Amino acid sequence: MTDQKNHAHPVDQLGRPMRDLRLSVIDRCNFRCTYCMPAEEVGADFPWLGKNERLSFDEMIRLVTQFSKLGVEKIRLTGGEPLLRKNLADLVKRLNDVPGIRDIAMTTNGILLSRHARELRAAGLDRVTVSLDALSKSKFREMNGGFDCPNQVLEGIDAAKDAGFEHIKVNTVVRRDMNLGEIVPIIEEFRGTRIVVRFIEYMDVGNVNHWERDQVVPTAELIQYISNHWKIEPVAKHYAGEVADRYKFSDGGGEIGFVSSISQPFCRPCNRSRLSADGKLYTCLFATEGTDLRSLLRDGSSDGDLHERIRQVWCDRNDQYSQTRWGGKTKKEQKHKIEMFYIGG
Ligand code: SAM
Ligand code: SF4
Ligand code: SF4
Repeated sequence: MTDQKNHAHPVDQLGRPMRDLRLSVIDRCNFRCTYCMPAEEVGADFPWLGKNERLSFDEMIRLVTQFSKLGVEKIRLTGGEPLLRKNLADLVKRLNDVPGIRDIAMTTNGILLSRHARELRAAGLDRVTVSLDALSKSKFREMNGGFDCPNQVLEGIDAAKDAGFEHIKVNTVVRRDMNLGEIVPIIEEFRGTRIVVRFIEYMDVGNVNHWERDQVVPTAELIQYISNHWKIEPVAKHYAGEVADRYKFSDGGGEIGFVSSISQPFCRPCNRSRLSADGKLYTCLFATEGTDLRSLLRDGSSDGDLHERIRQVWCDRNDQYSQTRWGGKTKKEQKHKIEMFYIGG
């Protein structure tokens, strides 16, 4: 009886099952995006995780096996920048062998993608999302912290196409004072291809970005802006809980999406769990505390112990930050929000 109960898929306090796991494989990044890891806040002396602090692939697979038994079907590899983790294709291959995992995706800044696309596809990576905030070098530099390599990111996207990825998305974070003028060029670049651009409202994740609400361009305003150039119309979501609202160009030019975490919060169906590169489990992007699973991995605890710990954390979960926006929490508590580059979005 107990055994049966332990192996059933748990739901959290709001009745939400756990379906997705965002797996951060490294906290480091080769960019310094202003909205995530600004260079003036995260310098050369930043206390990055050491090699032994990060989970090994063996440890990740052990955990993912338990996550899968608890309901997780989809894995998204993230970072920092996931392509900085050596031999990532080996991890992909092993994730594919975990029973119950039916979809493996990765979010990347794309700068190293042309080098790795083919081996990742061959290893069984199903989908790739590439972040790209500007096509003009100067705006790219401004958004991404001093680098001006949009062409290299475009080459990475081409390499992903050539490698056989059928599901490629582009993530564009919109900051009012920086890249509003890049929206039309980005749409023009991908319209008529099968690549779907998703515009993401600038979120108040972490603390180092010093988020200001006036930098957010609400989706409704962005849709109005885009509608001055093309007629677009809403399309039904693929599945309940899909993060982006889908729109299509009325002339058949394909689709775009909008992620509206600030203006239209979507916590109700949220089924995402997150594991940091050092093995802490977070149940919300805006969490302040994680649950240390690494010490269980390393102190001789059994798979059953791991399973039970994860299950308990999920059963206790009642996160709905986007909808309550700190209702009742103090400024001090807000200061402890984890950083986006630590859990990877
Ligand atoms: N380094 C990879 C990349 O940039 O694609 C993966 C990790 S990054 C943290 C994952 C996603 O989060 C990226 O698409 C990035 O644009 C997005 N992101 C980071 N900070 C954000 C913020 N404050 N608001 C909205 N999206 C953000
Ligand atoms: Fe790096 Fe991605 Fe964060 Fe940019 S958004 S600093 S690429 S982790
Ligand atoms: Fe999920 Fe937390 Fe985002 Fe709400 S705020 S959608 S609970 S990650």
